[in-house]
Amino acid sequence: MKTLPFTKQQLEEIASRWPTPFYLYDEAGIRSTAAALKDAFGWNKGFREYFAVKALPNPFILKILAEYGCGTDCASRPELLLSERCGITGEDIMFSSNDTPASEFCLARKMRAIINLDDISHIEMLEGNGGIPETVCCRYNPGSSFSMTNQIMGNLSDTKFGMTRPQLFEALRILKSKGAKRFGVHALLVSCSMDEEYYPQLAAELFRLAVEIKKELGISLSFVDLSGGIGIPYRPQERAVDIARVGGQVRQEYEKILLPAGIELAIYTELGRFMTGPHGYLVSRVIHEKHTYKNYLGLDATAANLMRPAIYGAYHHITVAGKEQLPADTLYDVTGSLCENNDKFAVDRLLPACQVGDLLVLHDAGAHGYSMGYNYNGKLRCAELLVKPDGSVQMIRRAETAKDYFATFDFTGLFDDIKD
Ligand SMILES: *Cc1c(COP(=O)(O)O)cnc(C)c1O
Repeated sequence: MKTLPFTKQQLEEIASRWPTPFYLYDEAGIRSTAAALKDAFGWNKGFREYFAVKALPNPFILKILAEYGCGTDCASRPELLLSERCGITGEDIMFSSNDTPASEFCLARKMRAIINLDDISHIEMLEGNGGIPETVCCRYNPGSSFSMTNQIMGNLSDTKFGMTRPQLFEALRILKSKGAKRFGVHALLVSCSMDEEYYPQLAAELFRLAVEIKKELGISLSFVDLSGGIGIPYRPQERAVDIARVGGQVRQEYEKILLPAGIELAIYTELGRFMTGPHGYLVSRVIHEKHTYKNYLGLDATAANLMRPAIYGAYHHITVAGKEQLPADTLYDVTGSLCENNDKFAVDRLLPACQVGDLLVLHDAGAHGYSMGYNYNGKLRCAELLVKPDGSVQMIRRAETAKDYFATFDFTGLFDDIKD
C-alpha cells in the first residue's frame, strides 16, 4: 500500500491557493532520508553525500540537504551557479560531468570544486582550462569485467561514461606527475537499483582497485565515490532499500579489503533519486472523462510536467485524493493534453471510479520529475511547493508564465505586451 502524507482537505486547500498542476515536496520525508543516509555511513570518517542536482535542482531543497552535510554533484554551469548561490562551494561540489565544455572546466576550477574526469583526454583540456587541481577524481568504467552475484549487469562497455582500467591507471599517473595530491575514483554502473548488494559490491570493486593503485602507483586514494543509482520502490509491492544495512555491508568490505592494506579513505555518494524521489508528488486535477474504445481520465498535467511514464514507460503510483478506501475497480488510461499519444501517466490502471474535479496524485515524482520537464506544445512548467514539517506550505518555485515562454524572443518586440 502506498499512502499519501496529505489529506484531500489539505490538498484542496493548497489547490485553492496555487492552481493545479503543482509539485508538492514533503520536507519531513526529505529530512528523514538525509538523516538515515548520514547515519548509515557515520562509521566512515569523511563520508559525504554530493546530492545529484539534476534530480531536483531547487535551492530550497539544496539548502535543506546541506544541513545534513550534503554537498552537490553538478554537471553544468547553471548547476554550479545554483550550488554557489546556496552557499555550497569549493570541495562541497563534485563536478561529475562528461563531454565537458572547456568553459565549464574553467568555472569549476575557479569555484575550487572537485573535478571528476570522465576521460583521460580531459587531463590536457583541464590543464589548459583552469589547471590541474590538488584534488582530482577519475571516473572508472569496468566494462564487462564487473558482475554482481545476483543481478545481470547491462553491458557497461556499451556506456559512454568513464575510463577503462588501463586508462584509469595512466590518468592517475599523469595527474600525479602534474602535481595532483589527493585522488579519488568514481563509478556509476546502474540506474534505479533495488539490489541491496549493489553498493557493497561496487565498493568492494573500488576498494580492491584502491589496493592495486597503491601497489602499482604508490598513490593512496583519499576517497572513492560510489555515485548514485540506488533505486526507490515505485510500485506498491516493492520494498525500500534498507540504507542502514547497505552502509553496514560497505563497512564490512572496507574492513576486509582496505584495513589490511593500511588504506583509510572517505566514501562519497552522489545519490539523487534515493534522496528526494519518494518525497515528491505531482498533484493534478481530472478535467475530462472520455469513453471511446477505452476509459480515459484527462488531467491538467502533461508529460511536460513529468515525462518518465511517457519516455520510459515508468510506473508512477496514483492515488485519488479522498478515495483511498474505495475499491480500485475501474480501468483507465490517465492522460495529459499533449498532441502525442505517449502522453499517458498510466495505461490500463485500475483506480476507484473518478469524476471530473477529482485530484489525482502521482507518487515518487521527487527526483528526475520536474527537472526533466520541457515546453512541448507550449505547455508551461508548474509550481513547486514545499510542505514543511509543521504542515505549512511554501512556494519554492512559481509556475511558468507565457511571458517566460516568450522570453527568448524578447529581442523581437512581438510579445512585449504579454505580462503573464
Ligand atoms: C544522474 C547521476 C547521479 C544520480 O543518479 P540517481 O539515479 O538519481 O541516484 C549521480 N551521479 C552522476 C554522475 C549522475 O549522472
